[in-house]
Amino acid sequence: MYDKLVFELSDSNKNSVSIPENNYDLKLESCISQKNMRESDAEIPTVSEIDILRHFVLLSYKNHHLQKGFYPLGSCTMKYNPVINEEVSSHEKVTKIHPYQDEEDVQGILKIMHDLQRMILEITGFDSMSLQPVAGAHGEFAGMMIMSDYFKSRNEKRTKMLIPDSAHGTNPASCTLAGFRAVQIKSNANGEIDLEDLDKNMDGETAGIMITNPNTLGIFETQIEKIGEIVHSKGGLIYMDGANLNAIMGIVKPGEIGYDILHINLHKTFSTPHGGGGPGAGGVCVVKKLADFLPPFIVKEKNKTYTLACPEKTIGALHSFYGNVNIMVRAWAYIRVMGNEGIKEATKMAIVNANYIKTKLKGFYDLPYDMPTLHEVVFSGRMHKSRYGVSTLDIAKRLLDYGFHAPTIYFPLIVSEAIMIEPTETETKETLDIFIDAMKKISEEAKTNPELLKNAPVNTPVTRLDDIKAMKDMNVNWYGQKHE
Ligand SMILES: *Cc1c(COP(=O)(O)O)cnc(C)c1O
Repeated sequence: MYDKLVFELSDSNKNSVSIPENNYDLKLESCISQKNMRESDAEIPTVSEIDILRHFVLLSYKNHHLQKGFYPLGSCTMKYNPVINEEVSSHEKVTKIHPYQDEEDVQGILKIMHDLQRMILEITGFDSMSLQPVAGAHGEFAGMMIMSDYFKSRNEKRTKMLIPDSAHGTNPASCTLAGFRAVQIKSNANGEIDLEDLDKNMDGETAGIMITNPNTLGIFETQIEKIGEIVHSKGGLIYMDGANLNAIMGIVKPGEIGYDILHINLHKTFSTPHGGGGPGAGGVCVVKKLADFLPPFIVKEKNKTYTLACPEKTIGALHSFYGNVNIMVRAWAYIRVMGNEGIKEATKMAIVNANYIKTKLKGFYDLPYDMPTLHEVVFSGRMHKSRYGVSTLDIAKRLLDYGFHAPTIYFPLIVSEAIMIEPTETETKETLDIFIDAMKKISEEAKTNPELLKNAPVNTPVTRLDDIKAMKDMNVNWYGQKHE
């Protein structure tokens, strides 16, 4: 019975819903034109309440999610986010207000946003910020527009933007969208920015550089002072992609070590999961001289009321109203609960966990950049490929059989057959040990039974799919027996 879908269990004698009486003095016929009315009832399955519950629980088990198992997706921070933050953000005082309400009626939520701005500025060491951008990439775009308008206001024509080859793909995209030309900068043997290449390319026509720190190899860019000298001495600005702030928060303040602009991902770092394409929040922070160009942000007026304000030379609004407020509330709750010490502790645990995996799997998988790692570690499956003909994709698929979500693979691009693992701070040593064990077993299977890996996964509800077809030609409809 449990293999059956709810549609197959349907029986017109059963029912799991009771629709309330229409108590309104409103006839459907007066709102919907006759030609749009159904002629016959919709074939909606009717089952008992317990069956519909089981249907959804079983469906949820066919998927992989954090509540079910480890999800070490690198660069996307799929961590456990406390349920209390969900409760706070779905409180009716948050969900039942509307952006068209007068500001004087919604002072509470504006205060939350103002507090959050203040806390993020404290964590990052910048002077001003806007919470309005609704994704990491959107925050990058805001930063690029701020740079663009800053140079325009100084009558400087700067058209190029330097971007290291280890950058996240959104960096060249957002700088291009803002009208700059992306110029690639090499990484050195340590996986950090090659200073010689930077020096060669930084000139009076270059607006600046976008640096991801820690970079996508999980390595901290240690040469920021020298980078600062090179870029600032030629009049450029330094942008930091801080999507992975969870690797440095509470320990390093980017605004105090030479960066001019930063975006952070409130999702990923502060209690909203990322990776499913859901809404985000990509607040953008700046040093004082750029504050006048920010998109709208919340200010506290002299009479102590809060309001959304636009600085004089603003790049303009990037979204309607305030941005994704719900995500801000989660972030606010997270930071308030964790406090200074908790934030620092989370960072340390994220680093310890990544380094634990790195140490335990070294020798079993190739480690192209064997440098001190922060929150994530990048292995390569190239040894397995050349020796046993097994690809990183095969290794990732086999992990599903062991009950894990696969790590990010084939990124960053500068590592061939990359396997990028981010355990996050929330996983226990026991979970990491089981994962490490599975990775070791898979490494052994590659040698003894490569065919097994090439055909993996074998234990999942569906076996290996054509990834592209599954995405581009998705069929989520149920046609019942009629179409079989
Ligand atoms: C996730 C991420 C981004 C983009 O964030 P989105 O919210 O997906 O737009 C940018 N840079 C880095 C380093 C990231 O990890």
